This record gives sequence, structure tokens and C-alpha cells, in this order.
Amino acid sequence: MKEVVVLGAGYAGLKTVVLLQKKIKDNVHIILVDRNDYHFEATDLHEVAAGTQTPSRISYPISDVVKPNITTFIQDEVVGVDTANKTVKLAKHAELLHYDYCVVGLGFVSESFGISGVDENAFPMTDVDEAKTIYNHIIAKMQDYQQSKNPDDLHIIICGGGFTGIELAGALVDARPSYAKIAGVDPSEIKITLIEASTRLLPMFSEKLADYGVNLVKKLGVQLFDGSRISRIEPGKVYYKHGDDTEEQTQSAGTIIWTTGVSGNPLMAEAGFKERRGRVMVTDHLNDPDHDDVYILGDVAAVMPPDGKRPYPTTAQIALAMADFTAEDIASRIKTGKRKAKAFTYKSLGTVASVGNTRGFGEAMGHEIKGYTASAMKKIIADRSLMETGGVKELLSKGRFDLYH
Ligand code: NAD
Repeated sequence: MKEVVVLGAGYAGLKTVVLLQKKIKDNVHIILVDRNDYHFEATDLHEVAAGTQTPSRISYPISDVVKPNITTFIQDEVVGVDTANKTVKLAKHAELLHYDYCVVGLGFVSESFGISGVDENAFPMTDVDEAKTIYNHIIAKMQDYQQSKNPDDLHIIICGGGFTGIELAGALVDARPSYAKIAGVDPSEIKITLIEASTRLLPMFSEKLADYGVNLVKKLGVQLFDGSRISRIEPGKVYYKHGDDTEEQTQSAGTIIWTTGVSGNPLMAEAGFKERRGRVMVTDHLNDPDHDDVYILGDVAAVMPPDGKRPYPTTAQIALAMADFTAEDIASRIKTGKRKAKAFTYKSLGTVASVGNTRGFGEAMGHEIKGYTASAMKKIIADRSLMETGGVKELLSKGRFDLYH
């Protein structure tokens, strides 16, 4: 009997479990560990933060997909991985988990780059609870405005105009009328500001397409300060330096959200993996270079494309592709004692940013797409992710065939 221990029920971990359950019927016991008893779609967190989707619409219980005859789910915090002794330590379970194969899919954390005041004064948006906290805070500020008449209560600042910042700005634009109603003001009085260090946003896209996206967000009334590097955050205040200016400028707001990028789970460093910003450069079979019984997937992995220049960006799509490969490789090792002959390869279906519910931009299958088409494509990609982890049941239960909820 082989023990497969899967750490993390995100896109990579959960899909590995779902596939292993289909591929191997005997001689395997799977243990899945996650701190939550639900899986959530990290690509939709911005919608929960804005309040345009409910938490239940972007998450489902892990028990829906776990087959108890093969898999044991443990809700706990992973606190250590001992690769020499092949064990995993959990926070609440006294006993160590022993593995023959370990799949590490422990996900990402918000990266503050050591900038002063970020942890205390800006909201991260990396899981469902954090996204709910942001939404509740925005609503509380709108309610406060009724008494305070302080325009800062109506102001939301997004720090970092990457993919996440742009998508969040779009969702906040959609939610603006509902905020305005609570505050008792006109929607145009709800101010949304993006502060971004670079002058060339979204470098994964051509300049023309990135400009289209940035202009789309601006046309919807989002104020953009580009070329503006944030230097510190104080309660209700973001300080930044524009271009080569040495003098700081400031913007004040009731809500400050931090989306300047992510790094892999810090546990990777604590467990002794050779990592950079929580990401381990994996082998062509997605293993830790020092341990071929440990697979490292999703946001804690760095995978080099054939050109060897920069690792692929971390996305849900590549995490799911890594799970496909890993499940096949582990199944093959258990059943035949041999590994998959071919190395992991990846071809992106496309990258699309949504700007609210009905607009978007990006590229899919070599073509640049914009507007409504892009928005529909984004939802198709997201539905595919949900289908791949949760199956038809979750797709139907979330009503996701309706592309415009
Ligand atoms: P990111 O690193 O892509 O973007 C962060 C942005 O913050 C950058 O534009 C950076 O210049 C800016 N920034 C950093 N420090 C700053 C500072 N001090 N002041 C001002 N601006 C600063 O991070 P992300 O947007 O969180 O995305 C993380 C990963 O997830 C990326 O690989 C992204 O492609 C992926 N993602 C994909 C999708 C999608 O496919 N729809 C959606 C969201 C995220």
C-alpha cells in the first residue's frame, strides 16, 4: 500500500487527488490536508471582495469530491515537511504523516516587499476570509459616510495595478452603484484609485493590448497613478514617489487594498526547500530537485519553459496542468514502478483579464480579444477550472452555465 500525501486543496492539490482517485483503485491511500474544509477559486476572489459574487459561489466543500474509501481528508495547518524522513507535521495532529509520495500545493501569500505599514494598514486579498473582510470593510465605510460625510469613506485605493489590481478595479466599478446607495450618494462620488509603480502595465500583453485594458479601466472612472512606487502606508494614507521624484506624495482613503504581487507559501523556506520567494525551481517531472518523491505544484513551483528565460507565470491554468501530469506520473509509478517517459510540457490556452462582469481583454489561442468576447472567454476558462476540480456537479450547482450571472 502506497501513501500519497497531498498538501493543499487549491487547484493543483485538489485536482491531483480527483485524478488519482480515478486512476488507481487499489494499493493506494491518499491523505489530503488543507486548513479549510472547502476549495475556493482564487481567480474570483476580487469579486467576493467587491461583493459582486458571494463566497459560496466561488467555493465548494472538499467532501464533495473526496472518495472516503481511498482518501482521508484532514482539516489542519501544515507546519513542517521533513524530506529526509518522508514525514509531514501538522499543527493539531500529534502524529506525523508518513508518505511514499508527497504533493506540495500550498499556494501563495501576499507579498509586502517589506514596505512599512502594509501589514497593519492595507488589506491583502489572498483567500475567501480576506476577500470577505474587504467587502465588509467597504460596506462599513459606506455606512460611516452617512454620518461622517468624510469623502475618504467613499474612496478605495488599490495598491498595485497587475492582473489582480485591474480585475479588482473592474469589479469595484460594477459594485459602485450598490455602494452609493448605502452611502446615499451618486455613484460618481465613489472614488476608485489604482497606484502602480510601472508605466508599462501588464507586461505579459502587447503594448497595444495593455493600453486598451488600461484605457478601459480609466474610461470606467478609475483614477490611475502609474509610475508611482508606494513607499509606505499609514492608517488611511498611501505614500508614493512619482518617477524619479524624491518627494513623497500621498492619497488618503477609507479602504486600502494590497495587490502588488504574491510569493509562494513561506513554509517552503521553513521546510528547507531551495526556494526563491517561496517558489522552488522544479525538475522536468515537477519534483523537488533533491527529492524525486516530492512533487511541487502551483504557486510554490517555478517551471521553466523550453526557452529557459523566465519561469511561466503562476496561474490556475498551469496549476491544473501540473496536477494532470503529477497524477499520471504517480499512478504510473505505483502501478508499474516506472515514471512517465515524457517531461511536463505546457501550452497556455490564453490569458484574459476581466474588467467587471461584461468586459475584458486578453489573448487566447494566439489572438488578441477584447470587450464582451474576452469576458465570455474568461468565464469559459474559469468554468473549465471548476469542472476540472469539482466536476459537473459543482459546475451546475454554481449555475455557472449562465455566463452573465
Ligand atoms: P503581479 O506581480 O502580476 O502585479 C503586481 C503589480 O504591482 C505590478 O504591476 C507591480 O509593478 C506593482 N507593484 C509592485 N510593487 C509596487 C509598489 N511598491 N508600488 C506600486 N506598485 C507596485 O501580481 P498579481 O496581479 O497579484 O498577479 C499574481 C500572478 O497571478 C501573476 O502571475 C498573474 O498573471 C496571475 N493572475 C492571473 C489572472 C488571470 O489569468 N486572469 C488573474 C490574477 C492574477
